[in-house]
This record gives sequence, C-alpha cells and structure tokens, in this order.
Amino acid sequence: MTNGTATIIETKDLSFTYEGGKRALKNISVKIPAGRKIAFIGPNGAGKSTLFMHFNGILKQTEGEVEYNSKKVEHSKKELIELRKEVTFVTQNPDDQIFNVIVEDDVAFGPFNLDLPIEEIRKRVDDALMMVGMESERHRPIHHLSFGQRKRVAVASALVMNPKVLIMDEPTAGLDPEMVHRLYEIADEVNMKGSTVIISTHDIETAYSWADIVVVLVDGEVLAQGTPFEVFSMKDVLDRAGLSVPMVHGLNEFMSAKGHSTYGRTMSTALLNIRKEAEPGMLYVMRPGREGEMYGCVGMYGSSSRSFIENKEISVQFRFNAIERCIEEVLSGKDSTLYLDESLSHVLDHKLSDVAEHGITISVKECI
Ligand code: ADP
Repeated sequence: MTNGTATIIETKDLSFTYEGGKRALKNISVKIPAGRKIAFIGPNGAGKSTLFMHFNGILKQTEGEVEYNSKKVEHSKKELIELRKEVTFVTQNPDDQIFNVIVEDDVAFGPFNLDLPIEEIRKRVDDALMMVGMESERHRPIHHLSFGQRKRVAVASALVMNPKVLIMDEPTAGLDPEMVHRLYEIADEVNMKGSTVIISTHDIETAYSWADIVVVLVDGEVLAQGTPFEVFSMKDVLDRAGLSVPMVHGLNEFMSAKGHSTYGRTMSTALLNIRKEAEPGMLYVMRPGREGEMYGCVGMYGSSSRSFIENKEISVQFRFNAIERCIEEVLSGKDSTLYLDESLSHVLDHKLSDVAEHGITISVKECI
C-alpha cells in the first residue's frame, strides 16, 4: 500500500475493548504512509474515532501495538507529551477540545506549553487563525460562536502546533458547504508542507478525489485499504459498509466499459473522456500581491490568495474548490484566472498532470 513511502503510523493486530465490554476494534493492522492524505470511511459506530484516539495515545490498546515512526508508542506522561507535539487530533465535537474562554487564548494554549519564544507563538497563532478565516473573531468569547466557528477554532488549535500528522475526526460535519471546501483546502496546505493528514468522513465524493489512500472500517474491522479507485471498485465491501459509489467513480466505470483505460479522480478529468474534441482555453495564474488584467471566471486557492483578494475586494466567481472549477472552465474552451498561493502550486501541477494523462495539455500562463 505504501509504495516505498515511509510509514509514519502503524497498528499491528490492534484490538480495543471499552470498559463495559464493547469490543470496538478487532485486530486492526493499518499502515499510514508519511506525507500522504488518508480518508477513513465507514458507518457510524465502525470504530473510526476509537482508532484515531490510539494514533496519539488518548486510548491504550487492549491487545496489539501502535508504532509511531517505527517505535512502539509508550504511555508514560513524557512520551505522550512528545507524541502529541507531532500528532494532533481534532475531535468531532469542538467542545471536547476547547478549554479557554477567548478564541486566541485557546489557539495559543498548545504553543505556550512548548515554551516557544513569544514572537514565534504570535506568528503561529496569526497564521493558524488566518488559515481558518477566524482572524476577525480572535478576541471573541468562544461560547458566543456558532458550532461551525467553534470547529474552525479547534482546527486552528491543531494547526498552530505545526503537526507532522494532523488527524481530523469528521472535520466537515456541521460546516456549511463553503467551509467544507475550505477545510479540504487547509488539509492540502498542511499536506503540501509535508504533513500526513488523516480524516474520517461520510463524504465519499470528496474522499474519492482528495485522498491518496482510503481505509474502510466496519464493525471494528478493516474491510479494505487502497487507492480510492481500488477500494470503490470492491462492490462487496461497499455493500457491507453501506457505501454508495462516488459519482466520478461511476463515470470512470462507465467509460472503462466503453474501452477507455484512463480514470479521472475528479469530475473534470472524468469528463475529459467525453469531451476530448473541445479545444481548451488558457489558464492564467496570479499570485497574491499581484493585480492586473484577469481573464474569464476568477478562482482563488490558498489562504494568502484569499486574504489578498478579500483585502483588495477583487471580484471572484470560484471561492472554493477553485482549481477544479477553473480547470473545468478551461476544458470547456474558455479562459480562466486562478489566484494561487506559491506554496500550493503542487496541487495545480498534480491536477494538470491528471488532465495530461488523458492526452490534453492545458496551457498555463503565469501573470507577472
Ligand atoms: P465511529 O467513529 O466510526 O462512529 P466510534 O469509534 O465512535 O465509531 O465507536 C465504535 C464503537 O464503540 C461503537 O459501538 C460505540 O458505541 C462504542 N463506543 C464509543 N465510545 C464508547 C465509550 N466511551 N464507551 C463504550 N463504548 C463506546
């Protein structure tokens, strides 16, 4: 499964029984490859949260082992503090994780305990609040915030630690659609900086296009793990897990039945097989800090771009999922402009190479 990538977290025959006798995890053996994006899917009660709580030592297995960087996780206070500096966990319910009254105090809490210089703490708190779009709420009491806003604070409190592994338990539950896309954007930003990102979700459409690896958990057991295409091709697994087939996967299967051998991870690439004859438009890339002539519909991707555009009040059509939507525009023959953070150029490159695999080269012009 890891294709030569180092494994950052591994469980070996892990089982866990809650007090009261519920055996929530049964002989779980999973390998989490370093620097990748992993989605755990499966019905409620499958054991996803219980497993995640083993990844950073909140729970201790009844049987088996958990390893972090090939070293057994020990449950001494000292070792757990070290582990949790690197492996941070965002709980499903933000109220389980928020301890302070004021937003910025809660976000600063973790770094304070790392004994970092005050300037470094300030910078990290500013960056984390900017990433989740909560700078303007930083002095507010947390109990005045909505559920979605409290969730964003909880995510900021994890981001501020610069974790090597970011685990988010159903991070998008209770968020509005725009924030759901922004959350995946944040997950991409964290991943592009080299961190491993693990989430659980019921959103199979996004899991399909977002994750490198999908793990299916049912009734405390791992039913399948592999690439999204591999996992969603296993009809018996989907039946047992009560999962439907992502729309893009359905399209891929339909096209493969017609003799096409390439598969798209997103709607734009899946549709390529259908609209190959269209001459693509030009994709213009703008970086935050630059202004100038823009072409076609404009999208923004990344927190610096977002911040720049909001400050300058630039008119934008695609506020979320923008790389995908700009590519769709270009594939339908129109030009489009994408405001993109430098640090996220890889996400665009990755999507362009997906498109290139279908024999279509999109011309990109960097606006300078
Ligand atoms: P998921 O995250 O996939 O919804 P959970 O890990 O929350 O699943 O739960 C797995 C199983 O463990 C469920 O049957 C749930 O009822 C049970 N469970 C979860 N927390 C506790 C607890 N604190 N005490 C006893 N049983 C629990």
